[in-house]
Amino acid sequence: MVRHGAFAYTWDLVGDPSAAARFADLGIDTVTLQAAYHSVRATTAWHPAHRVVHADHAAAYFRIRPSRWRGLRPAVPTWGVDDEDRFGTASASLAAAGLRTEAWVVLTHSSALGRSNPSLAVRNAYDEVFSYALCPAQAAVHDYALTIVQELCEQYDVPALMLEACGWLGFEHASQHEKTSGADLSACARDLLSICLCPACSVRLELDVAELAADVRAVVDRELQEGIGAGSNLADALGAPRAAEIYRHRQSVISGLVREAAGLAGSRELLLMATDDPQVTGPDVGVEVAGFAPDPAAFVLKCWDDEEAAIARMKGAAGRTGVPLVANVNALGERPSELPALAARLVAAGASEVRYYHAGLASPARLAAIRAAVQEVG
Ligand SMILES: [Zn+2]
Repeated sequence: MVRHGAFAYTWDLVGDPSAAARFADLGIDTVTLQAAYHSVRATTAWHPAHRVVHADHAAAYFRIRPSRWRGLRPAVPTWGVDDEDRFGTASASLAAAGLRTEAWVVLTHSSALGRSNPSLAVRNAYDEVFSYALCPAQAAVHDYALTIVQELCEQYDVPALMLEACGWLGFEHASQHEKTSGADLSACARDLLSICLCPACSVRLELDVAELAADVRAVVDRELQEGIGAGSNLADALGAPRAAEIYRHRQSVISGLVREAAGLAGSRELLLMATDDPQVTGPDVGVEVAGFAPDPAAFVLKCWDDEEAAIARMKGAAGRTGVPLVANVNALGERPSELPALAARLVAAGASEVRYYHAGLASPARLAAIRAAVQEVG
């Protein structure tokens, strides 16, 4: 039996007494519910009190108990229907409709905290701060991420937490005013710009960091200014030993975070949003699924791009790990009518569960596609 779930924001549910039943009508049994989340502007098509919600900074949607926080602490929302425990209210309404709640937790993506704590943010080889990205190698960020997990586990009886941005965000930042595409940066150059050389990473990387930074700048500048490609991957651009050391450092930090989160979560499942490629940074952390320890309850693989590529990645990951795989599929893409066939193919390729993005943002046609996909897969 394949578990089907859909993502939702707390404001889709809080103040809308019919929302949970509408989600249940999709045929899903689980809602992956916003617990800690970055800024966003979202439509709410059915809500009695609003149509557009602008969350203009990252925030926690669960109850903040001030005494539990040392150092970094998430902000509280000022938008949507006012409720000091939006996560609790929303999950109670889901339970009343027979739906299981997973806590959807974004860990290192907070421009609000990065701007007020630039020394804790990702820093590229030009010593430029990516304020939207907290660096997980920083002890204060590690502590902050684990406090989010601990507070959710202590306050709510949720069976699972889905961890997003459980590692580094890199150069990519899909903000509303991004103006970087015209430079035609290759994927490799973007990955070079994503290497964090903040003080914490500089200590933990067993490399000559000044030399590494100079080499990254030289390769990126050659591409930016002369149009000479950075190479096919980090091993190509920086040499295999240095690329391997960068991956070792990342995997060590991400593994440590997952291990400690699992200790706090006890019997709750940890679902790790991941990409099976250690060169990748972003909300789906880049790891080697084959060698990753400790095993999460599942890896959640994003399947939003080209269908054939997504199927190939799912098959590849299924061949390299025995950890269950969850397919994260996009009902907001260009061809929602193809969602049922895609979900069925991903399950045939090795996914044991599907999560549909996103029950609150989808139009009637897209909701119909989710419903059809649940029926098609069974
Ligand atoms: Zn760092």
